[in-house]
Amino acid sequence: MTSTETDFPADVRGSVLRRGDDGLPDGVVGFQTADPHRPDVVVSALDADDVVAAVRHAAAHHLPVAVTATGHGHMTGLAGGVLVATGRMRGVSVDPASRVARVEAGARSADLVAAAAGHGLAPVSGSFPGVGVVGYTLGGGLGLLGRESGWASDRLREVEIVTADGVLRRVGPGDELFAALRGGRPAVGVVTAVSVGLVPLGPVVGGGLFLDAADADRVLPVVRRVGEAAPESLGVSVGVIPIPDLEGVPAPIRGRTVLHVRLVDTDGAAAREAEAALRAVSPVLLGGLRELPWTESGSIFAEPEVPHAYEGMNVLVSSLSDAALDAVVAAARSASVGCVVDVRRLGGALSRPADGPDAVSFREAGWIVRVLSSRGEVPDAEMRAAHAAVLAPVAEVTLGRMAGFVYGGAPVSDEELYAPSVRALLARVREAVDPRGMFGG
Ligand SMILES: Cc1cc2nc3c(=O)[nH]c(=O)nc-3n(C[C@H](O)[C@H](O)[C@H](O)COP(=O)(O)OP(=O)(O)OC[C@H]3O[C@@H](n4cnc5c(N)ncnc54)[C@H](O)[C@@H]3O)c2cc1C
Repeated sequence: MTSTETDFPADVRGSVLRRGDDGLPDGVVGFQTADPHRPDVVVSALDADDVVAAVRHAAAHHLPVAVTATGHGHMTGLAGGVLVATGRMRGVSVDPASRVARVEAGARSADLVAAAAGHGLAPVSGSFPGVGVVGYTLGGGLGLLGRESGWASDRLREVEIVTADGVLRRVGPGDELFAALRGGRPAVGVVTAVSVGLVPLGPVVGGGLFLDAADADRVLPVVRRVGEAAPESLGVSVGVIPIPDLEGVPAPIRGRTVLHVRLVDTDGAAAREAEAALRAVSPVLLGGLRELPWTESGSIFAEPEVPHAYEGMNVLVSSLSDAALDAVVAAARSASVGCVVDVRRLGGALSRPADGPDAVSFREAGWIVRVLSSRGEVPDAEMRAAHAAVLAPVAEVTLGRMAGFVYGGAPVSDEELYAPSVRALLARVREAVDPRGMFGG
């Protein structure tokens, strides 16, 4: 018997499953199904004390530790060691007076959005309601209304984290660990809760318009022009999506490659104008704008909720020309593997500095260009070559990459993800908080 099978603390409130126990799947799988964790022990924590017990156990036995919430951002599987699963810690409490929410480690975006909406407030949430608040925020967090409200990590107020020594710490402004956690997503501990600032928000005008990719030469210049001229109230993005020819898919888009233009506007007028400009150049196959409460903001991107194996890469670019956007889309459409492209306008409040030290890099980027494929369609090397070809037309204006949007096993370096000063900050924090590399950096 190994130590992991014997002396785990008996007072853990959640569950402790060891390899071989009933209920511990061969790999521990969330939304991302590629390269699952294969731990010796999974601690499904109910509270911070459970997390402390798990980390102390791992530290005492020199075991590696990883943390999983929803698996949306899962990269490399843990081989052996202790996996802390936070999915049962979903508490959210909102203080309407200070407009701050305390969010437990396993809460999803939808949990926070619902709790905040009861007070006329909203977080700087992203496109998908199922994403974990903690993973999203630690990776910077590009919200649908980021141009108006900044990065989600700009609104981080406090982090409760169990570090490699098994101590639960509260860190906030003035602490280097806090700065690193604002966008640097350092793997140096298990965050048990975060406190985040909320913004007052009523109904917005938003939605997604599906247009035929055959009209790309007319639609894409409009999207780019709308994005460049957008007021900060307006979020603009376009997806290029090969829609499968499957039963249940709405007939107008079934089996076609579509351009999915997503607009969201706290004011409304600019989104309506953009919709009219798009309708003038190409018939809308499906979708449109409407007034909606933030609790329905997931309908804007309307991303599929089916777990699968995927890999994705992105670049943050200083500028985007019509020719470059056209070439990105053409490369995706001619690739030997199905490529979903997502191009989002940045700028506005996303470009302004945070109110203190943080780890978001390349704030000056004007756009982010992403490409994503299902794993297994073609060999990984072929898929990665296709992704490189899709991003090649913007190579000259590339500043770096955003960690939160690197998916699966996509190879990426710290140099690509973080500015030199941020890399130095992350190195200092790793050395101070997890010198043995228990969390893998
Ligand atoms: C469909 C989809 C839509 C998305 N939309 C957006 C978007 O609009 N904007 C955006 O910015 N991002 C978006 N993302 C990216 C998403 O924010 C990241 O993948 C994020 O890491 C997901 O966090 P998670 O907790 O859900 O995933 P998990 O895979 O459970 O966690 C991802 C990583 O976050 C870290 N982490 C999670 N919990 C903890 C914890 N308690 N303590 C320490 N570290 C932790 C770990 O490094 C972990 O490996 C999207 C992803 C998907 C799949």
